[in-house]
Amino acid sequence: MSEVSFDGRVAIVTGAGAGLGRSHALGLAARGAKVMVNDLGAATDGSGSGSDAARAVVEEIRAGGGKAIANGANVADATQVQAMVDEAIAEFGHVDILVNNAGILRDKTFAKMSLGDFRMVMDVHLMGSVYTAHALWRHMCEREYGRIVFTTSASGLYGNFGQSNYGAAKSAMLGLMNVLSIEGAKYNVRANMLAPTAATRMTEGLIPDELLALLQPETITPGLLALVSEEAPTKMILGAGAGCFTETKVYETQGITLQDADLSPETVLARMAEIRAPENQQVMGNAFDQTNKYVRNAAAARGVT
Ligand code: NAD
Repeated sequence: MSEVSFDGRVAIVTGAGAGLGRSHALGLAARGAKVMVNDLGAATDGSGSGSDAARAVVEEIRAGGGKAIANGANVADATQVQAMVDEAIAEFGHVDILVNNAGILRDKTFAKMSLGDFRMVMDVHLMGSVYTAHALWRHMCEREYGRIVFTTSASGLYGNFGQSNYGAAKSAMLGLMNVLSIEGAKYNVRANMLAPTAATRMTEGLIPDELLALLQPETITPGLLALVSEEAPTKMILGAGAGCFTETKVYETQGITLQDADLSPETVLARMAEIRAPENQQVMGNAFDQTNKYVRNAAAARGVT
């Protein structure tokens, strides 16, 4: 197995002043990447700014002999993100790797959730990832090299009480990642998702003390480094935590095909077990794979070839 090296590569890691982002930035730098360490210095709920978090991580990287610069852009502000990307290119010449990691929480049940809190979380997680990827997209395609990771969450993939805003933002990233991995394929731009679970300030009080040691961000970073390496996969959702690595996939079941008098809600309900049966379930390559399957099945049910 060849060693993973980021010599000559330039990475932007958002929200890298603390937690997972800090660990990713240190991991990239330790293997040779020049890193722009972005962090707004916000509290977990997204309020405030201006801490020295990003600068402290840059100092750590430099102390270890690496190259890094700090950046305080708010990823939810498209103008600041463009300036951040311009600065990285001016300083390092190009950008090869984008790690969308910045994040906040504004948890409430949907009944109590204000639209402002919903929008704020969407703005940081989803639009923040859109702005960074958009600002770098042409640059990466023209250079025929790009590795982009979106940080999702089990809340987005599976749901979690009190996190409608966060869950919506984190699963919306899946749609973005799917399309970017398809559009980027011919330019060697690969997009993946990381679904971490870690002991950080974001999960403070939620994880029992005895488990904190197992869930350090450093147990996740090797997975992130694999997703942005030369040999990275594309369109993958990598689960990571406590040294465990898994893949989450979206499957479609084989299902049933109805016609004529059977084409009714009653039959759909009556045959729900067959519709949901996991045997022969498939991963679709793209949206038209599903359309083609339905048309093929309908034609076969009618005896048309
Ligand atoms: P963290 O709070 O330690 O780090 C998040 C960082 O993002 C902070 O340093 C913060 O200042 C920065 N940030 C917040 N808003 C910003 C903005 N608008 N612009 C730039 N920087 C901003 O949290 P963490 O646990 O390290 O989370 C990192 C990512 O991982 C987040 O996207 C989070 O949703 C995701 N995640 C974490 C867990 C977990 O178990 N910790 C689980 C699933 C997903």
